[in-house]
Amino acid sequence: MGRHTRGPADDRPQALAHEWSAAPSDALRWSAGGDLSAVDPSSTPGWEGGKAEATELVAAHADELSELQERLFAEGRSGGSRAVLLVLQGLDTAGKGGIVRHVVGLVDPQGVMHRSFGAPTEEEKAHGYLWRIRNALPRPGHIGVFDRSHHEQVLVVRVEGLEPRAEWEAHYDEINAFEAEVVASGTTIVKVALVISRDEQKQRLTERLERPDKYWKYDPGDIDTRLRWDDYVAAYQDMLDRTSTEVAPWYVVPADRKWFARLAVSELLLDALRSLDLGWPAADFDVEAEKRRLAGS
Ligand code: AMP
Ligand code: MG
Repeated sequence: MGRHTRGPADDRPQALAHEWSAAPSDALRWSAGGDLSAVDPSSTPGWEGGKAEATELVAAHADELSELQERLFAEGRSGGSRAVLLVLQGLDTAGKGGIVRHVVGLVDPQGVMHRSFGAPTEEEKAHGYLWRIRNALPRPGHIGVFDRSHHEQVLVVRVEGLEPRAEWEAHYDEINAFEAEVVASGTTIVKVALVISRDEQKQRLTERLERPDKYWKYDPGDIDTRLRWDDYVAAYQDMLDRTSTEVAPWYVVPADRKWFARLAVSELLLDALRSLDLGWPAADFDVEAEKRRLAGS
């Protein structure tokens, strides 16, 4: 329990202790018919605390996150087929990299398969768009992290007109079928759309131009993307409406406050791992016999 317990009358479930007024998976899950432009990027849905409490909760849950990841890894080593895939989408500067560093960085890197997807290479272009995605899927026991994903095929590809409409229109159903297949193979998919405001993006890009230690993050193309802001919002809206499914729902995370985005994603990841009900693999050897052998060695 955190510092802000609510006294003995508080009979909310343990999972909702601290400052969550609703489970993050409920508060953030995209609901059909939702209006993306009505999401306030500086809001903290379901969270009643501030930055200090959020940072504290992430730290308090780090051990559990790490242990569950180790259990998943152990299961994978012992013949299990389960994995987790965290998909991060968001416009430039939304904080995808920060999530990887601050949230995914809480667990053992051995068990993480991270991949960021930029414009496809010549080799990748020679294949269908799901080819590079399939190749990057987490192996059993691993947490896969996609910084951008196959969803770009209905985002940048649509907005920039890289394919005719009839082609990108078909991708929504293809993506759903693909993700259903991935889930059926034992991978839990957690899809997170980070939402920043135009003003906050301007501020973050300004910082990239003013600080030499941030130049490397600046891409002149980000301004072109920014100029098509409304088109991207429309594309994100359709992506959410058409690819948020029962087996692979989208979570929409307001990201103007980095501390909230990091808290939210760490809680969603923790939730996904908890739902796997992971144990430790049983020994596939005779423990007592091995103890005797060791003692006599
Ligand atoms: P960054 O995430 O800053 O490294 O930027 C990666 C860039 O690759 C972004 O401008 C994306 O829009 C672009 N990108 C990602 N996936 C695709 C894709 N399938 N087709 C074209 N561009 C893509
Ligand atoms: Mg960039």
